[in-house]
Amino acid sequence: MVSDIAKVLYQESTILSRLDEMARQITGDYKGKELTVIAILNGSFIFMADLLRRIPLPLQVDGWSVSSYHGTNTTGRINFRQTQLADVKGRHVLLLDDILDSGLTIHSIKERLEKEAGAASLRVCVLLRKNVERVRHVDADYVGFDIPNEFVVGYGLDYNERYRNLPYIGVLNEEGIRRYAR
Ligand code: 5GP
Ligand code: MG
Repeated sequence: MVSDIAKVLYQESTILSRLDEMARQITGDYKGKELTVIAILNGSFIFMADLLRRIPLPLQVDGWSVSSYHGTNTTGRINFRQTQLADVKGRHVLLLDDILDSGLTIHSIKERLEKEAGAASLRVCVLLRKNVERVRHVDADYVGFDIPNEFVVGYGLDYNERYRNLPYIGVLNEEGIRRYAR
């Protein structure tokens, strides 16, 4: 609900302009290579769709659904929901996520990929990177926007599974936080 948004950080047009730039860079970097994109779902589904349509390379796409328990469980364990992982042997892998926060999610996925898959290379692309101290030492190779430490929703990002369909990225107000609190 629009009335639940305290402020808009990035309008859709701003996001899409930035995706044009990111896609240009990624296209240049992976020209002539066997690219496999792995999107971390659900949060990156809109980012994935908008970014990949701007990359005119013959790539493969796979979505990985993960759930993280940090917040309620401080061990920060990541649960992989798939039983079968994409075969990325010899391929150049680009991981897509909505936001780099503590780094736990991307760290776990990188570890898992490095251990099992034998990818030719592995890079990370995130739409947002939060300015916080990371629990794990990971960084992203491609970053849409650096943001302050605020909880954001929209453009794929949720608050208790709501607000993913907002076309822009914004910060929730008290009303929104209360409306869908668990
Ligand atoms: P990390 O594992 O780096 O701490 O966090 C990554 C995941 O936490 C993201 O993929 C996202 O699902 C969630 N997350 C972290 N910060 C935010 C935020 O500000 N808003 C929303 N909606 N999700 C966030
Ligand atoms: Mg989430």
